[in-house]
Amino acid sequence: MQDMQLSPSSQPTSGTHEVLGACPHDCPDTCSLVTTVQDGVATKVHGNPAHRHTDGALCTKVSRYTERTYHPERILHPLKRSGPKGSGQFVPVSWDEALDDIASRLQAIAARNPQAILPYSYAGTMGLVQGDGMAARFFHKLGASLLNRTICAAAGGEGLTQTLGGKVGMRVEFFAEAKLIIIWGSNSITSNLHFWRYAQVAKRNGAKLICIDPRRSETADKCHEHIALLPGTDTALALALMHELIRNDWLDHDYIDKYTLGWNELRARALEWPPERAAAVCGIRVEQITSLARDYGGCQQRGEPAAIRMNYGLQRVHGGGNAVRAIACLPALIGAWRHRAGGVLLSSSSQFPVDKATLQRPDLLAGRTPRTINMSTIGDDLLRPASPDFGPAIDAVVVYNSNPVAVAPESAKVAQGFARADLFTVVLEHFQTDTADYADYILPATTQLEHWDIHLSYGHTDMLLNRPAIAPLGEAKPNTQVFRELAARMGFTEPCFADSDEAMCRAAYGAVVDFEVLLRNGFSTLPGADAPFAQGGFPTPSGRCEFVSARLQAQGLDGLPDHVPNHEAIGTSAAYPLAMISPPARNFLNSTFVNVKSLRDMEGEPILEMHAVDAQARGVQSGDVVRVFNPRGEYRCKAVVSPRARAGVVNGLGVWWRKLGLAGTNVNELTSQKLTDLGAGPTFYDCLVQVEALTDA
Ligand code: SF4
Repeated sequence: MQDMQLSPSSQPTSGTHEVLGACPHDCPDTCSLVTTVQDGVATKVHGNPAHRHTDGALCTKVSRYTERTYHPERILHPLKRSGPKGSGQFVPVSWDEALDDIASRLQAIAARNPQAILPYSYAGTMGLVQGDGMAARFFHKLGASLLNRTICAAAGGEGLTQTLGGKVGMRVEFFAEAKLIIIWGSNSITSNLHFWRYAQVAKRNGAKLICIDPRRSETADKCHEHIALLPGTDTALALALMHELIRNDWLDHDYIDKYTLGWNELRARALEWPPERAAAVCGIRVEQITSLARDYGGCQQRGEPAAIRMNYGLQRVHGGGNAVRAIACLPALIGAWRHRAGGVLLSSSSQFPVDKATLQRPDLLAGRTPRTINMSTIGDDLLRPASPDFGPAIDAVVVYNSNPVAVAPESAKVAQGFARADLFTVVLEHFQTDTADYADYILPATTQLEHWDIHLSYGHTDMLLNRPAIAPLGEAKPNTQVFRELAARMGFTEPCFADSDEAMCRAAYGAVVDFEVLLRNGFSTLPGADAPFAQGGFPTPSGRCEFVSARLQAQGLDGLPDHVPNHEAIGTSAAYPLAMISPPARNFLNSTFVNVKSLRDMEGEPILEMHAVDAQARGVQSGDVVRVFNPRGEYRCKAVVSPRARAGVVNGLGVWWRKLGLAGTNVNELTSQKLTDLGAGPTFYDCLVQVEALTDA
């Protein structure tokens, strides 16, 4: 990096220079970006070679960030709806006209009941400032409904917290030294590329890689073994694995005695799960379980590190929280935590000492306790009338960093809710997404190249700073600025509404990080032990790995992990015999990038992967347009008969924009609003469907 001419300020300069930033997307890798700027125009975005996790390489999606930033369809001026909701008809208006009207409409609703206003946001940017920095201050001051941001990681986060004490785990870089890596519920090549690089190092050094995933993913192709279990059966597999560790005494008794809680109870539970029982539930062979146990227990016997990389796919089912709990128990059984290359990683985000109170200012609620709306049930909640239980009907939604009409489950209901004539909707966006089509106002937002932000990571342990590389395009404004200007119009006079973005970046970690280091390098590594739980010290109430959770028991729940069948378990419906999962398409990230032509061209069309047996039974061939349906709706896409799908399970790759799909819907037309066992998360991969070929397509 010595040769780089880093921009000393946030302002673009003439000539060519490079600016350090951070990838804002919902991906565990949180790459360090280098943007080349020529005469004020960003010409290239590449990976920072000085950041060890990024290692100079970005994924295909973000390598095209300039294409996205300068996209001809980028919204660069405020727009006001001029046609029916959902029609996508808008006319340009000035910022003053838009913000004056929005402020007065919100003020009128707030005068009746501020809880009728709902902020709706997620990880369109993972930035702490453009995410829920100024926005949270604004909605707290207003007394708006709170949003439970469950849509991706709630069940797993809760499962991990009940077991390990938080979103904590092994450091990603040490996967490179592991001798066994179990990649559980993750297509790492697509969604955790920089972890995959460490796994490749381990593989070259003789490690065995095993992938556990209903889909034969690109990652599964490159592992030594693939276990294609049925969706929602991961806990059964984990308990049977424990059963075999116990039966063969492949256990670290010393670690269990000293650093775990509830071993006798977990042991009894695991002994209820012989491999034969689990194999029947998981739809796999008994030998696959015993072989997995031999590999995992063998590491204990030989004193070798075994590491598990979980990802969030496996927790998008009814029993998702229990699945993460069960898997998170495994390393303690074999004492894997003793090694820096042993243990489990799902998320590292609790390790970051973010000063949320300063950033988000919950004190502005001033003693009020607004209701909380679960973002995963927005379809039902937008259609709910006022009631004593629910409170006021939702009269206004302000959407930022999210595209709920495309990404929330049961999207026909979501669209119906957003189509309500009496709902006032404001959307801060880069593009006219499916959700923006329903807005009363679309406000042009800056991209990551145009604003300040600061980041944590949920896949590694570095903090990153994002500096603006270019001036905002058109009339785009950072989210922070929109909420600042709305706050001024609403008469909010607290000094925090005048904080600059850079000041908020400085406040995010306070004195914990040297901001000058972030300015200079773009990143800073959290201090911490290489093997954080080698001698226990888990951030649980007991300080131990909690096989039994007293906190769950206090809620009247099972304190031990157990198999929780899917809401829509395979074999329970003759009319809808196929289980559908909807993992991300390789070239999209949730619904982001779907409108970037070069990426959409690579992706082709919305597809449904089907096993040959299921396709043949329905007369479906590759390339046929199929109708995928269940009582919630129907979705049309192209069938691909492929070994990537196991028998009985179809893979509807997502998340396409509805309007860019074949018939104005996407895969979430079929998913349900039923929730997970822990954390009240969505159950996208717990979904029964039927498929038929369309002869007239
Ligand atoms: S999406 Fe992930 S892999 Fe791609 S640049 Fe961003 S953080 Fe890196």
